[in-house]
Amino acid sequence: MTKPEIICGDITKLDVDVIVNAANSSLMGGGGVDGAIHRAAGPQLLAECMKIAAERRPGSPCQAGDAVITGAYQLPCTYIIHTVGPIWQGGGQGEAEILASCYRKSLLLAAKTGLTSIAFPNISTGIYGYPKDKAAAVAVESVRKTLDETPNIQLLLFVCFDEENYNLYEKELKN
Ligand code: ADP
Repeated sequence: MTKPEIICGDITKLDVDVIVNAANSSLMGGGGVDGAIHRAAGPQLLAECMKIAAERRPGSPCQAGDAVITGAYQLPCTYIIHTVGPIWQGGGQGEAEILASCYRKSLLLAAKTGLTSIAFPNISTGIYGYPKDKAAAVAVESVRKTLDETPNIQLLLFVCFDEENYNLYEKELKN
């Protein structure tokens, strides 16, 4: 079975089949990794996201824990999966289940699309305030469980933007 790997760096630079975006429920772009992805992909990405949003639930086109796929335009990868992480509210509002669902649904969507390599950022650990240690544990557990169901996925990368996350993922993956 494929073993998740970790790297440090900028997810927008990766030449994998699909990178995952920590989007917000409007799909209209934002700060953090979402902003970096939209800037690097170019305006056609926002145009496709607006089209998807118009076809879905008004006001909240992508619910927390859900995932949608688009093209990647000027990025070196082929597709982008946009998933919406939970906003940390202390841990009693189902945050762990929602975060696990982000990783699971993104991975299942990549597999369903016939893709073989995927890169994840550390969803919810920036602006959404999820404690990094707890988020790393949820991410690793969720992908390990889901990889059993996605035999075509040959490369799964956790892309860490800071050393703290890198060290936490390293620890989790040793367990
Ligand atoms: P959220 O709103 O889900 O918390 P953020 O984009 O604020 O999303 O942060 C998610 C994670 O993505 C954070 O750990 C942040 O450091 C990281 N990040 C920001 N920019 C990039 C990038 N270009 N490549 C990879 N990770 C990034």
